[in-house]
Amino acid sequence: MRVEALARIGGKGLDIGHVAGGIPEISMDELMGALAGLDRGPELLIRAVVPQQAVHDDLYREAYMLAVSLAVKYGWKPQKGKPILRGMGKIAVDDILYPNHCRTCSGTGLVADEAGNATVECQVCAGTGRKKPKVSFSAAICGIDDTTWRRTWERRCDVVRGEVRDWWNIAERHILKQLS
Ligand SMILES: [Zn+2]
Repeated sequence: MRVEALARIGGKGLDIGHVAGGIPEISMDELMGALAGLDRGPELLIRAVVPQQAVHDDLYREAYMLAVSLAVKYGWKPQKGKPILRGMGKIAVDDILYPNHCRTCSGTGLVADEAGNATVECQVCAGTGRKKPKVSFSAAICGIDDTTWRRTWERRCDVVRGEVRDWWNIAERHILKQLS
């Protein structure tokens, strides 16, 4: 698999133009080898865009822990019982993994029901699988109302988004260095 293909799957462009002579065809093993030495967040992000790498749960957990550490650092106080930090981690990861899709159902229009026994229509996108306006889906994922989201959490989520985008940039630089 080529790095460009990897980048396409992730919906992001790896800037291979900077590598003299470009990057040769590489195998999955070579790609995995090029991840050695990366921090966990950047590594999981790359692994999540590679087919057959089921690391999404780990990646969401890692992004959640990132949001927790940012909340400690900046003194953010989430309302009790609201999945705000977990939600922000998911939003930040899905920005990169599914840029054009509904983030709740990952573009399928379907989600597991509360008991986890069946799939039901996604309420965030009304089953369309496409993005709805930012405010309502972001607030819904975090379990809070639109006003609270807009007033307090939207800017904070931008910080989490920026950090996860940095994961991608760090991984990209690292892989290009390893392969060039
Ligand atoms: Zn949906």
